[in-house]
Parts: sequence; structure tokens; C-alpha cells
Amino acid sequence: MATGLGQDLQGKVVLVTGSSRGIGAEAAKGLAAAGMKVAVHYRSGKAEGETVRDAIIAAGSEAILLQGDVSEKGVVERLIAETVQHFGRIDVLINNAGDLIERRPVADTSDDLFEQHIALNFRSTFAACRAAVAQFRKQGGGGGIINLSSIAARTGGGGGSSLYAGSKAFIATFSRALAKEVAADRIRVNCVSPGVLSTPMQDRTSPPEMLAALAKQIPLGRIGAADECVGAFQWLCSDAMSGYVTGQVIEINGGLLMP
Ligand code: NDP
Repeated sequence: MATGLGQDLQGKVVLVTGSSRGIGAEAAKGLAAAGMKVAVHYRSGKAEGETVRDAIIAAGSEAILLQGDVSEKGVVERLIAETVQHFGRIDVLINNAGDLIERRPVADTSDDLFEQHIALNFRSTFAACRAAVAQFRKQGGGGGIINLSSIAARTGGGGGSSLYAGSKAFIATFSRALAKEVAADRIRVNCVSPGVLSTPMQDRTSPPEMLAALAKQIPLGRIGAADECVGAFQWLCSDAMSGYVTGQVIEINGGLLMP
């Protein structure tokens, strides 16, 4: 995407949380291929994070690697500060780090699991958005935020994922509310909402028979691949292509859910 549509992405800076594997890793590589400078981020997968960073640099783009557990207070603020410290600014924040953690019926769900969801899926998104908005305003306005919702936000999710589904519904609604608050600063806030994409998270939390049954229900006839959100990320990052789009949830699910 060196010329034409999306050319405005050249040299812009994006932080993709949780980009050591899965959807985030593909987003980081896809946005770098479109000309963006990328802050790659991991929590525990240092080697995977280095692989993503090195692939971006080998392809001729700029990347740095950041570490931190976003469920800990203050970490997302530090990640944004480190991105700005290195690249001089930030243009887009993608809040991708998130997790289903484990499948549990509500009756068997502990307060501790609830708190884990609050810290990872709710608070880290909120805190990162708050810090990004402050930085965008400091830079004179403009900028974009893309939060990761899920088809689970609309369907309630597969068995035992009520807290995860609820957290993704929070993310979609919070994003719409924030989009209204910051539109006057020319900051756009949108969500990407994947259906069922083959990633380490799905491998860990969804048994193969569950995925096979789901695949049969998908009109396009298959589970998605981790790189099938890349086009949506590129589009949402580009003011030239999506400058009139804010407060939206882009559903990427092979037709599994048709609103
Ligand atoms: P993966 O589990 O494959 O990857 C998650 C990434 O987030 C990893 O880079 C991981 O880093 C990082 N991460 C996880 N927990 C933390 C934490 N506490 N602090 C910092 N980083 C963390 O997930 P997916 O790629 O499948 O999912 C990415 C996003 O998309 C998530 O928000 C998920 O909810 C959403 N989504 C995914 C769907 C799917 O079908 N795959 C469907 C709908 C939504 P590390 O490995 O270094 O720990």
C-alpha cells in the first residue's frame, strides 16, 4: 500500500498491544507493510515479540518492542509514554491485548476470575484510551483508537464465557461513548469485532470439536485466520480511507452474525 489509498499511513505511529502473537501480531506486520511505524508489545512471549519486531525491520519498516502486563495499573500509560519517547508521537492505539482467560459457568465463577476480567478486559482498555486521548490532545488533536470487541458481545459467547462476552460488550459501548466525547478533537474511536479466528487464544480455550461445530455454522464455511482483520485495521487507521467513520464496530466473522 505504498501509493494511492492509505498513503497517509506512511510514517504514522501505531502501538498494538498484545502483538506478539495471534491477531495483534498480524495487525502489527500488516500496518508496518502499509508504512506505519509500529510499537510491538508482549507480556510473556518475549521471543515471539522479537520475531514480530524483527520481521517488520527486515521488511524495511520501523519497529520497537515493549513489554508489560496490561492488567497491572499504570502499565498501558507507560507503554504509550515509551512509544512517544521513541517515535516522538503516537497516531493510533490498538487495544488488542485481551483474553477469555477460562471457560466457567457463572455459578462456578470466583470473585478472583471476575477481578481478572475487570483488570485485563475492562480497565486496561479504559486506561489506555484515557492516556491516548490525553496524548492526542497534547499533540494538537487528531488520532485514532481501535478497540477489540468480539462477536461474543452480541451473542453472549460460547459456553462459560459470560464475563468475557460482557467485557467485549462493555468495550463496544464504551467506544461509542468515547467516540462522541472526543470527536471535537478529531479523534476517532472504533472497534474491530472478530468472530472465530484461529489463534493461540482459541486453541487454548475452545476444544477442536467446538471449533468444528462452529465452522459448520459459518456461511463462508470456515474458521477465520488471524490475519483476516488486517484490512479493517489498515482502513480504520487511515484518515484518507475512513476519516468519516467513528463510533463503529466492524464485524469480521464470515457471516456467522449478520446484524
Ligand atoms: P492471543 O491469546 O492469541 O494473543 C493475545 C495477545 O495479547 C498476546 O500477544 C499476549 O501476549 C497478549 N496479552 C494477553 N494477556 C495480556 C496481558 N495481561 N498483558 C499484556 N498482554 C497480554 O489472542 P487473539 O489474537 O485470539 O485475540 C486478540 C484480541 O482479539 C483479544 O482482545 C481477543 O479477545 C479478541 N478476539 C479474538 C477472537 C478470536 O477468535 N481469536 C474473537 C473475538 C475477539 P503474551 O503472549 O506475550 O502473553
